[in-house]
Amino acid sequence: MAVAAEREYGLFIEGESAEPSDGEVRDLIEPATGAALARAAVAGPGDVDRAVAAARAALEGPWGKTPPNERSRLLHALADAIVANRKELAELETRNVGKALASTKAEVAVAAESFRYMASAVGSIEGATRPIGGSILAYTLKEPVGVCAQIVPWNYPVMLAAWKLAPALAAGCTTVLKPDAATPLTALRVAELAAEAGIPPGVVNVVPGDGPTTGAHLVRHPGVDKVAFTGSTATGSEIMRLCADPVKRVSLELGGKSPAIVFADADLEDAVASTAYGIYYSAGQSCDARSRLLVEESVYDDVVALVAAKAGAVKVGDPLDPETQMGSLVSQAHRERVHGLVETGREEGAEVVAGGEPAEGAGAFYPPTVLASVGADRTVAQEEIFGPVLAVIPFADEQDAVRIANDVRYGLVATVWTGDPARGHRLARGVKSGTFTINLPYGAFPGVPFGGYKQSGFGREQGLETLQMYLETKSVLLASGARPTNPWGL
Ligand code: NAD
Repeated sequence: MAVAAEREYGLFIEGESAEPSDGEVRDLIEPATGAALARAAVAGPGDVDRAVAAARAALEGPWGKTPPNERSRLLHALADAIVANRKELAELETRNVGKALASTKAEVAVAAESFRYMASAVGSIEGATRPIGGSILAYTLKEPVGVCAQIVPWNYPVMLAAWKLAPALAAGCTTVLKPDAATPLTALRVAELAAEAGIPPGVVNVVPGDGPTTGAHLVRHPGVDKVAFTGSTATGSEIMRLCADPVKRVSLELGGKSPAIVFADADLEDAVASTAYGIYYSAGQSCDARSRLLVEESVYDDVVALVAAKAGAVKVGDPLDPETQMGSLVSQAHRERVHGLVETGREEGAEVVAGGEPAEGAGAFYPPTVLASVGADRTVAQEEIFGPVLAVIPFADEQDAVRIANDVRYGLVATVWTGDPARGHRLARGVKSGTFTINLPYGAFPGVPFGGYKQSGFGREQGLETLQMYLETKSVLLASGARPTNPWGL
């Protein structure tokens, strides 16, 4: 099927495309060209109310009684549909977000695998009997938490939609997913595929919109039982505040400033090539981008030279070209923000050894950039830039490396490159991050819990742990014989 980016996209409520009632329809821009791409609906508060009502009705209707095997079958059917439509989804994502087709193809594949993983994980949902002695039978039941509000950012729209939808549906919940208003196309397409796969109307609803209006209304909605959020730490903290009064369940997947730590005994070529991939994949617009390269002093100059060469060798260009490794950023506005932080780095004394100037032309391109001689306390070493910008920081020894790695407010992912496996394991315990990889640039796989320490959030995606975020535990106790005496004797 040809890419249908040029069509007009509605909301997705109760199993079908819906016109916004009090929202609006906006033009979407293709970031790599600056040209108009499609028109897409933005939900207003009344549209959110309709979506929550549809999710509630589906939960209280047949979906609430759907047996686990049937939920599993439907999730596999959706995974099959994503695989069957993978070309269309990847092209749609590339045109909407600007990232390279090679990347979006991989992300669509991960989206399908995430549904498959959770389809299998349905079988792991079980309670337990708890022997408490005497004549009381005590056991636990696992019940879906209810209607979920799931809010995702613009950087991995299809993959993060899958990371959110799959566990919620596996647990038997219903959901209202809110993608970013600028990048709604693949999530809407996945919702259509879910309906075609047989997932009943109202189970999956999609309401693209702006954060402070559509998003906040959804979070505050009394019909929502749980909020699952992926985005920046600032927004996550605002969402936590909104959830505080009604004591709404909330899980947060937030920002990162993840280190790659290179010791002199590492295979430097491998460490540097992998780190270049770890930062420039998705043009650095990844929560787990290895945006800080911590290098042992004795090899610091060699590594800076190597990484500058690797940055210069990344194939940047038309994201639809299958050879392209790095496409554009998501928007001109985001490119300005990224460049502003690079300028701050310059002013604070960093040396730009690769990139550092926006590309000419209408597309939102920014070159792979390396900042050397960066102090660990500088803005570019502390703040999430969310662009293709690597800060290279020297360290003296193992203790110093752990200190610098931990000296940020985030704790999402960290990687160590070393020839000494014991040191790798020592660092795994010393560094505060939700994921730690040893001589490996990849950290996110279906089945492996992914999430943050510190201000990178709480809760985990992608693992069996994720299912528990969508389940309540109910304890049931039954007097199965003579009961303990009522101490009041009434
Ligand atoms: P953002 O926080 O600005 O927006 C994320 C989503 O929240 C969007 O859909 C937005 O519309 C919505 N939103 C904004 N304000 C809201 C409010 N007051 N109430 C409800 N919803 C609101 O983040 P962004 O700039 O779109 O995304 C980038 C951030 O996401 C980065 O910090 C990145 O590290 C993080 N991220 C984290 C993970 C992870 O798994 N930890 C994965 C991807 C991205």
